[in-house]
Amino acid sequence: MRYFLLFASFFLLIGCGNDTTQAKKDPDPKEEPAEKQPVFGIVIHGGAGTILKKNMTDSMEAAYKVVLEEAIRRGHEILRNGGTAMEAVTKTINVMEDSPLFNAGKGAVFTHEETNELDASVMDGATLNAGAVAGVTRVQNPIDLALAVMNNSPHVMLSGKGAENFAEEVDIELVDPSYFYTERRFQSLQKLKKIEKDRHISAVFEDPFIKDSKFGTVGCVALDKNGNLAAGTSTGGMTNKRWNRIGDAPIIGAGTYANNATCAVSSTGWGEYFIRAMVAHDISAMMEYKGVSLKEAASEVIQKKVPDLGGNGGIVAIDKEGNIAMEFNTAGMYRAHMNAEGELTIGIYKEE
Ligand code: ASP
Repeated sequence: MRYFLLFASFFLLIGCGNDTTQAKKDPDPKEEPAEKQPVFGIVIHGGAGTILKKNMTDSMEAAYKVVLEEAIRRGHEILRNGGTAMEAVTKTINVMEDSPLFNAGKGAVFTHEETNELDASVMDGATLNAGAVAGVTRVQNPIDLALAVMNNSPHVMLSGKGAENFAEEVDIELVDPSYFYTERRFQSLQKLKKIEKDRHISAVFEDPFIKDSKFGTVGCVALDKNGNLAAGTSTGGMTNKRWNRIGDAPIIGAGTYANNATCAVSSTGWGEYFIRAMVAHDISAMMEYKGVSLKEAASEVIQKKVPDLGGNGGIVAIDKEGNIAMEFNTAGMYRAHMNAEGELTIGIYKEE
C-alpha cells in the first residue's frame, strides 16, 4: 500500500508540473478574454404628469431636452472619470434645480400662501446612509443640503428653520426667498386658486385636472465604476399645498432609495400615494426578497400598486448591473438615460 501511495504521488507531482509548464506558455491571443470594462450608468427624471404633445410647443420641448441633456452629461462625465455615483447624482440634480423649467430649486411651485417650500433627499447604496430636508425656503440647492445632512450631521432628516440654521453652519448657499419666484409657477397657483374658489373644492386633492397636472420634480440615479449605487430627488412639491405639507421626495423609501444589493430609485408623482405605497423601497424589496428583476418590480409598483390606490406618477431606477427602468403611469415623464458607452436616450411622452 505504501509503495502504491508513493507511486501515485509521483504521478500527481508530474501532473502538477505539467500544468505549471502549460500555464507558463504564452497564451494564445485568440483565446485571451477581452478586458471587461466597468459598467456604469445614469438615469434622470424631470417629473411625470399630463405631459401631452398637443400642449407643448416645439421650442418648449427643445428647451426641456436641452436641460435634460446638459444635466445627464454632467453626471455621466463624473462617472466616466471614475467619480462616485453620489457626486454624479447631486451634480446632475443641481443642473435641473438651477433651471426654471423644473419644479425644484429655481422654478419650484408655490404654496397656497404664495411661498416656495422645497424638499430633497439622497441615499448612498453602499452604506445605506441617507440625508433629507423638508420645507426649506431659502436653500438655493436643496439636494446639496440633503447631502450635507447625510455627511455632516448625526440625523437623516431636517426641516424648516432648523434645516436652514444647519445650512448656515455647513456653508450651504442661502438665498432670499424671492429667488424662487417664476411668473409661470405663480400663474399656475392663481389658476388653481380660482378653480378652488369657483368650485368650492380643495383644488390640490379633489379636482381631477389638478391631481393630474403636477409635474417637474427632478431625480437622478446612478451606478459608478466601483459598483456603487446612489439616488437623489428634489422638488417644490405640489402647487397650492398648505399647512407645511410634505410629499414623498424627502422621505427615504418613498421618494428615494438606494441599496447596492438591489437598485437605486427616484420617484415623481402624487406624493401622498407614493408615501403610502413606499414606492422606492418596495421596488428594492421585491428584488431583495423575491429575486425579481428591476423591470418587473418597477412595473408591479407603478402600473399596479400605485394606481390601485388611486395615485399616479413614475420612477427612474438602475440596478447593480446597469439595467434601468423608466416606468410611469401618466401621459408623460421627462426622462433621460446614458450608459457606459455614452449612448443617450431622452424621452418626454409615453409613446417614445
Ligand atoms: N412627488 C412630488 C410631491 O408629491 C411631486 C411631483 O413629483 O410632481 O411632492
